[in-house]
Amino acid sequence: MSTKQKRYFLTEEEIPTQWYNIQADMVNKPLPPINPKTKEPLKPEDLFPIFAEELCRQELDQEHAWFDIPDEVRDMYKYYRSTPLVRAYGLEEALGTPAHIYFKNESVSPVGSHKLNSALAQAYYCKKQGVTNVTTETGAGQWGAALSYAAKVFGLEAAVYQVKISYNQKPYRRSIMQTYGAQVTASPSMSTRAGKDILTKDPNNQGSLGTAISEAIELAINTPNCKYTLGSVLSHVTLHQTIIGLEAEKQMAKAGEYPDIVIGCFGGGSNFGGISFPFMRHNILEGKKTRFIAAEPASCPKLTRGVFQYDFGDVAGYTPLLPMYTLGHNFMPANIHAGGLRYHGAGVIVSQLLKDQLMEAVDIKQLESFEAGMLFSQAEGIIPAPESCHAIAAAINEAKKCKETGEEKVILFNLSGHGLIDMAAYDQFLSGSLQNYEVTDEDVQKNIAQLEKVL
Ligand SMILES: *Cc1c(COP(=O)(O)O)cnc(C)c1O
Repeated sequence: MSTKQKRYFLTEEEIPTQWYNIQADMVNKPLPPINPKTKEPLKPEDLFPIFAEELCRQELDQEHAWFDIPDEVRDMYKYYRSTPLVRAYGLEEALGTPAHIYFKNESVSPVGSHKLNSALAQAYYCKKQGVTNVTTETGAGQWGAALSYAAKVFGLEAAVYQVKISYNQKPYRRSIMQTYGAQVTASPSMSTRAGKDILTKDPNNQGSLGTAISEAIELAINTPNCKYTLGSVLSHVTLHQTIIGLEAEKQMAKAGEYPDIVIGCFGGGSNFGGISFPFMRHNILEGKKTRFIAAEPASCPKLTRGVFQYDFGDVAGYTPLLPMYTLGHNFMPANIHAGGLRYHGAGVIVSQLLKDQLMEAVDIKQLESFEAGMLFSQAEGIIPAPESCHAIAAAINEAKKCKETGEEKVILFNLSGHGLIDMAAYDQFLSGSLQNYEVTDEDVQKNIAQLEKVL
C-alpha cells in the first residue's frame, strides 16, 4: 500500500549554490537610497563604515541576477538545510478545502527561524574582511539569536540591543543569545546618545525596532573594527533569504506542483521576498500568473495603509533615506506579540513591487493571527511563531475561498519560525486577555504628515 507523501527534501548536492537578486530582472528598478547629507544617490562606499563591504555591494546591485553562496556559508547551511517542504494535509482536512496547501518549514533551523539564512552570510562577510565585533538590534529576539549564533560560528563578538518590551516579555530569547555568547542590552538604553535622548523625554519608553537600530548603528560607528548587521528590510538580507524559495521551487517540482499563490508574513520583507522572488522571477520572465501575498499586522499596516515615499529606516535618522512604503519613522506600533512585524517601513524592493502591483498585501488582526496559529498547531503539530501566524491566517483565508469556489489552487506559505519561546503570548490568547489593536486614520495621517520635512 502506498501512502501520500507528506514532506519533500533536497539532498546536500541539490541545495542551491546561488542566491537570486530579483533587482536584475525588475522592469522598474527600486529608486536609489539617498545620502541624507548630500541628497545624492547612495554609493556602496557610503555604506562601508556601517556594513561589511561585500554586503554593501550586494545591497545596491541591480545588474547581477545570481550571487554565488560562499562554501563556508553552504557548509553551515547543511546544519539545517534543506528545510522541509510540507504538504499540510492536516490543515486541508481541518478546513475542508480542495486547495493543496504547502508550507516551507524554516522553523527547523537551530535558532528556530529563517533569520539564520542571512545571519550566517553576514557574519561570514564580516569575518572575511577582518572585522572582530558585530552589533545589531532585535525585537522578539529571533534576529538577535540568529546573529549571536552566526557570530560564534565565525569567531566574532556580538552585542545586541533588544527592544525593551520584548526583553521583558521574552526573557528566554535573551538567555538564548547569552547562551551563544552575545552581550544583550535592553533598548532604549543609556549607553548611546539615541537611547539617552529618548529616555530623557520618556523614561517609560518601551522601545521599538527603529530606536534599537539607532543604538546599534551608533555603537558600530563609534567602535573600531565593529560592523552593524540588520536582519530584515535591506535588499542584501532578502537576497540571502531567497535560499528558501529556490529550495521550495525544486521541492515543489518533486511534488509535481507549482504554486498559484505564495504567502509570507511581513515585517520588513525578507522572509516574504525569500520565498516569493524565485517564483516571481517566472512571472516576470515567462508570464506566469502566480499571486504573491504579504501578510502584515493590522496594528502596523505600512503596506495596506502607509505611503510610498523616502523615509529613514530608524527613529534617530542615522540611516540613508529609503524609497519605501512607510508609516513614518516615528510610528510607534502597539505592543503586539509578533515583535518581528513591529517595523514602520518595508524594504525598497518589495515597496517597488507593491507599487507596480506585482504583489498584494493583506492585514491581519492579532486575534485572527492566533486563531490561525491554534488551528495550525492542532492540525499540523507545529506551534508557529506569532509572526508566522499572520501568513497562516492569510493562507487559511485563501483556502476558504477555494472551498467556496471549489477550486483546487496550490497555496504555498512560509512558516518563518516556531513559537515555542512565545508561549506567554499563547497563554494570553488562551486566557482571553489578548486584544486587537486598531490604528486610527488620524494616527497614520499624523505620522505621515511629519514626513514632509524628510526629502
Ligand atoms: C523577524 C521575523 C519575521 C519578520 O521579518 P521579515 O524580514 O519580514 O521576514 C517573521 N517571522 C519570524 C519568525 C521572524 O523572526
